[in-house]
Amino acid sequence: MSGERSGNGGGGGGGGGVVTVSGAAPTRADALALDAADPLGGYPDRFERAEGVVAYFDGNSLGRPVAGVAEAMAGFVRHDWGTRLIRSWDEGWMRWPEEVGDLVGRVALGAAPGQTVVADSTTVLLYKLLRALADHQRALDPARTEIVLDRDNFPSDRYVAEGVAAERGMALRWIEVDTAAGVTPEQVAEVVGPATAVVLLSHVAYRSGWVADAEEITRLAHDAGALVLWDTCHSAGSVPVRADDWGWDAAVGCDYKYLGGGPGAPAHAYLAARLHDLPTLRQPVQGWMGRRDPFAMAQGYEPEPGVRSLVSGTPPVVGMVPLRLSLQLLEEAGIEAVRTKSLRLTDLAWAIVEDWPAGTGVTVGSPREHARRGGHITLRHPDFQAVNQRLWERGVIPDFRAPDGLRLGLAPLSTRFTEVWDGLAAVREELERLR
Ligand SMILES: *Cc1c(COP(=O)(O)O)cnc(C)c1O
Repeated sequence: MSGERSGNGGGGGGGGGVVTVSGAAPTRADALALDAADPLGGYPDRFERAEGVVAYFDGNSLGRPVAGVAEAMAGFVRHDWGTRLIRSWDEGWMRWPEEVGDLVGRVALGAAPGQTVVADSTTVLLYKLLRALADHQRALDPARTEIVLDRDNFPSDRYVAEGVAAERGMALRWIEVDTAAGVTPEQVAEVVGPATAVVLLSHVAYRSGWVADAEEITRLAHDAGALVLWDTCHSAGSVPVRADDWGWDAAVGCDYKYLGGGPGAPAHAYLAARLHDLPTLRQPVQGWMGRRDPFAMAQGYEPEPGVRSLVSGTPPVVGMVPLRLSLQLLEEAGIEAVRTKSLRLTDLAWAIVEDWPAGTGVTVGSPREHARRGGHITLRHPDFQAVNQRLWERGVIPDFRAPDGLRLGLAPLSTRFTEVWDGLAAVREELERLR
C-alpha cells in the first residue's frame, strides 16, 4: 500500500512538502521526515503538551487544549464575568449560541449563517431534533411512523430513538451493519419508504471510522419522502462536511472531540433554513431562551423565528470560551488541509501495523478506502483491554472499545507522525509482552 500511503503524486501543487515513505516498512526516520515536511507541522506546538504523554490517540474523544485556553478562561473570569457581571448578557453572551453556532457552521459543517446553534449536550439535542422532525413528518403524513437507524450507532443515538419511538408510538427500523464498516446507500434504499419519518445516522461511525456517503443517503431518503438527522460527532473537524450543498435537513454533534471545546463543551445543532418557522416543526423542550422576547416573561410559548428556537435555557457560555479559540485555529488551518493530513496519519498507522508479524494477530477494523475512512482507525485483538491499561500507564493513550477494539483517534492538528510511530511501537511491545 506504499502508493496510497505516500499520498503524493510527486507534484509540487497545493499540499506541498509531502514525503513518500520509503520502502514497505515505515521506520521512525520516515515519521520524522513526514513531520519535517508537514504543512501543518507547526500546529502541534499550539496545543498544551503535557509531560509524560508519549502519544495521544484520543483527540477524537477529548481534544487537547489549545495553548492560550488557560489565559482566555482567566480573562473571561476576571473581565466578562468578574467585572462586567450581569451586563455581559446584554453585551454579547445572549447571542453566543447563534454566534458560535455560525462559527461551527462555517468552519466545520459547510453551513451558511443562521442555521446552527451551540447548546445543551449532543444527547439532548439529538432528542430535541429527532422528536421535532418526527412530529413534523407525522403531521404532514400520519402514515410515516418509522425511524430508521443502524445497530452500531452510538448508544445515545439508539437510546434517544428508542425513547422518541416509545413516546410517540413509532417503530424503529434497524439496519444491521458490519462493525468494521458502516451504513451504505444500498442498505438505506432497502428500508426507506412511505412509512419512514426520519433516518438517524452517524456521518462518521464512532467505532470503525466509516464515512457514510451523506450526500447520496440524503438524496435517497428525500426521494422516499423522509428527513435525515446526521450525527456529526466524529466528522466535524476531521472530514469536510457540506451540509448545505448535500441538502441536509438537520445535524447534531459534539464540540469536545475534534473541535476541541473541552470536557463537556456544549454541542452543535444544524437545522436547514427551509425547515425554520414551520408550525408543525417544534422542538419539544420549550424554554424561555428560545421564546420570542424572553424578558417579557409572557404567557404562552411562541418560538423565536429562526434557529434560535432550538435553544431552551440559559446558554452555557463558560463552555464556549475554549471552543471559540479552537475553532479559530481550525479555521486558520482549513478543513481541507486537516483532512489531507488526517489521511496521511491513518495511512502511516495502517502501514506500521501491516508490517507487524502475522503472529501478532492484530487486524484493522476500519475502511481502507480513503473516501470511506474518517479520522480514526480501530485495531482489533482479543488482548487489547489488558494492553490498553498498560499503555495508559506509560503515557500512550488510545481508547478501548469493547469487545476487542483499540481506537486510534489521530487529531490532525495536534498529532505528530512520530507520535503515531512511538505510540504504535508501544502497542506492539505490550502485545508481545503478554504472549
Ligand atoms: C461522543 C458521541 C456522543 C456523545 O454524546 P454526549 O451527549 O456528548 O455524551 C453521541 N453520539 C456519537 C455518535 C458520539 O460519538
